[in-house]
Amino acid sequence: MKKKINSYLTDKNIRFLNNSEIGEFLTMRVGGEVGFIVFTNSNDQLTGLLKILFDLKQKYILIGGGSNIVFPDSCNELIVIINSSSEIIIEEKNILKLNTGLKNTDFLEYCKKNNIAGFEFLAGIPGTLGGATAVNAGAFGRSISDKIIGGDIFTEDGIFEYRNKEFFRFVYRNSRFKYGKDVIINIYLKFEEGESNSIKDRINEIVKLRTDKHPPYSSFTAGCFFKNPEVDGKKISAGKLIEECNLKGYEKDEVMISDKHSNFLVNKGAAVFSDIEELGIKIQKTVKEKNGISLEREVIFVSPDGDKF
Ligand SMILES: Cc1cc2nc3c(=O)[nH]c(=O)nc-3n(C[C@H](O)[C@H](O)[C@H](O)COP(=O)(O)OP(=O)(O)OC[C@H]3O[C@@H](n4cnc5c(N)ncnc54)[C@H](O)[C@@H]3O)c2cc1C
Repeated sequence: MKKKINSYLTDKNIRFLNNSEIGEFLTMRVGGEVGFIVFTNSNDQLTGLLKILFDLKQKYILIGGGSNIVFPDSCNELIVIINSSSEIIIEEKNILKLNTGLKNTDFLEYCKKNNIAGFEFLAGIPGTLGGATAVNAGAFGRSISDKIIGGDIFTEDGIFEYRNKEFFRFVYRNSRFKYGKDVIINIYLKFEEGESNSIKDRINEIVKLRTDKHPPYSSFTAGCFFKNPEVDGKKISAGKLIEECNLKGYEKDEVMISDKHSNFLVNKGAAVFSDIEELGIKIQKTVKEKNGISLEREVIFVSPDGDKF
């Protein structure tokens, strides 16, 4: 199997690494050796590869910016695809068709230049539009699902087809893609026309707010570790609950709870999967004992068998 994949990638001139550490491609830097890391930079490369992997029944996980996921210490049979297809097409009036490997930062630059408003809430959220869609990323009361009409999907049954928004099964910080195997190849977003300077101002304002509240972007994190729980129909801050347990700044082995925002776990440099998992469990237990609230993990874990959970 490995030989077949090797020669396919070589023939198609697709860049890849054999038996390499995935951690360095993830913002939290947690993950050991995987079988292949494949870098696709066009939809032709991506869909061609997905068809081959489907025919070979080979397990894979596709990621974008790797900013919401951590991997185990080793996963030798797994292929990780890093998607960076980034074409932008104006499909029809007020509808954009976007390759899902497009980075949020590049998309926002495009929005500024082309007077496209309504996506400013993505400012400061690392990663790609594919990742943002899969986890239904958002901030300041807005989520990407508010803007999506549908997408071109490579389904786990090997079919490539357009599916409308209902197929995505969006809920708060989740969709069918977060833990599933279907891959979004393009998304279709509706947009409003805006004015470049006010779009720029709003983006700068959001970046400033985030810089004041969050640990620096240079630290190794995967964003908020837990979802904000809902209590009596109201969302409450997971960070505040953790802080109330006096855990702000707490350190255990190679991982710490940020002293700037208690819902961010920070890898001090050499953290491994079990460090993150154990601290996560400790936080859940402590919060549950103090005020009876169960925190649900937002960051995605990968098992040694290559399943997301
Ligand atoms: C400093 C920092 C701040 C953050 N702030 C926020 C925030 O304010 N709000 C927020 O929501 N998140 C935040 N995050 C988390 C993260 O950046 C977002 O969830 C982001 O949208 C994930 O995108 P990604 O491309 O990095 O996804 P990845 O981590 O690469 O992947 C996440 C999931 O999406 C799946 N996936 C990726 N691409 C596709 C695709 N094309 N088709 C199907 N599935 C796909 C992956 O398999 C995986 O299950 C933050 C993270 C950091 C490090």
